[in-house]
Amino acid sequence: LPIVAIVGQPNVGKSTLFNRIINERVAIVEDRPGVTRDRNYARASWMGHQFSIIDTGGITWEDSTIDEEIRAQAEIAIEEADVIVMLCDASQQVTSLDERIARLLYRADKPVLLAVNKADNPEQRNDIYDFYSLGLGDPIPVSGAHGTGIGDLLDEVVKNFPADAEKTEEGVISFSVIGRPNVGKSSIVNRLLGEDRVIVANEEGTTRDAIDTPFVKDGVKYRVVDTAGIRRRGKVYEKTEKYSVMRAMSAMERSDVAILVLDASTGIREQDKHVAGYAHEAGLGMIIAVNKWDLPKKDSSSGKDFEAVIREEFSYLDYAPIVFVSAKTGKNIDQLPKMVKEVYENKNQRIQSSVLNDLLLEASRLVPAPMVKGKRLRVYYMTQVKTNPPTFVVFCNDPELMHFSYQRFLINQLRENFDFTGTPIKILPRKRK
Ligand code: GDP
Repeated sequence: LPIVAIVGQPNVGKSTLFNRIINERVAIVEDRPGVTRDRNYARASWMGHQFSIIDTGGITWEDSTIDEEIRAQAEIAIEEADVIVMLCDASQQVTSLDERIARLLYRADKPVLLAVNKADNPEQRNDIYDFYSLGLGDPIPVSGAHGTGIGDLLDEVVKNFPADAEKTEEGVISFSVIGRPNVGKSSIVNRLLGEDRVIVANEEGTTRDAIDTPFVKDGVKYRVVDTAGIRRRGKVYEKTEKYSVMRAMSAMERSDVAILVLDASTGIREQDKHVAGYAHEAGLGMIIAVNKWDLPKKDSSSGKDFEAVIREEFSYLDYAPIVFVSAKTGKNIDQLPKMVKEVYENKNQRIQSSVLNDLLLEASRLVPAPMVKGKRLRVYYMTQVKTNPPTFVVFCNDPELMHFSYQRFLINQLRENFDFTGTPIKILPRKRK
């Protein structure tokens, strides 16, 4: 998907604009531990065009100066985005910070659009002409607060998408290797691709092709998403946790399956949970790879013990298979592509309605549908409406009665009867008409 980044000095209204743009989509956020809510990365659409949007100002840099912050914002936008929106404030004159940001953005070899916010009334819309001096072309007046001008801005944004950014390749399984810094992501990718293969990050104007690396294994075509990002080191913004989460999200948007890498030598940390939470929310296929398995002292139960900890800490990822690997010795690394393929297939399978209804019948024989507030849930039939991830609509007398625990029961029934290893399953209760 094309990526759009919003940059601008503090308080010009970046997050208001961001929220306006993603408003169309109802975010389904689950109330579970490990799922972080503050958003600075989301999916949006305009006139049938899907894209991802980043609010670079939503990322906080501890102990950094304004200068460092705007520099980091601009760097992120330049590296990640296909289209950059620089936002200014019509109620102020052109500020020196605006000028500095504009100068940083001159280096981008991608389209930069200039939007001027708080252009709420005709008089303020006249003030926008000052912003021509930034040298970024025609200023587009918008009002995040009133929602005006957003459509015109998005028309321009969509017009500037690169020709091939919206295409996906048929017959290629794409996956990303995600996790907090130093767990061994690049080491794993290097092993996967073969030690000799040098992955070079394209320094100027990183293109999609340069950051996603294709390879073939056992006749299956794969694409490792964001390999360049895995290699890149040392930029100021890389230190921030939010950035690494955002980076992982950006990679996940382009992936069918994610391999979440944990570090056996350090155990599970808070940051692992954030990355995992996002991956789960994104509805991706998941594999958990415990790397550096060469390091800990082990006995016969070490694997089981570690697995138990993972299952407890990441209870919502109960569908993800766990594999113990070592990028250093190569142990089990060759299992990964095969696992990715299996998860991909599970995630794309479609179950016939007749088979589903047999299962539903059997399930209600096992466990009668619960009574809620004196009313009994009645479940009539179920049908798969989507793959990738598998999504099932369950028709019943009253969706309110179908609590999470009953949905969970149905999901378990599906898992027991079909191989859905590695893929989340969604249940959508609907009232039968
Ligand atoms: P990334 O930040 O997640 O990409 O992590 P790197 O691949 O850069 O690895 C971080 C450090 O862990 C490096 O010093 C690697 O050499 C080391 N490392 C990676 N995988 C393994 C492993 O399987 N075993 C051991 N012992 N060290 C590893």
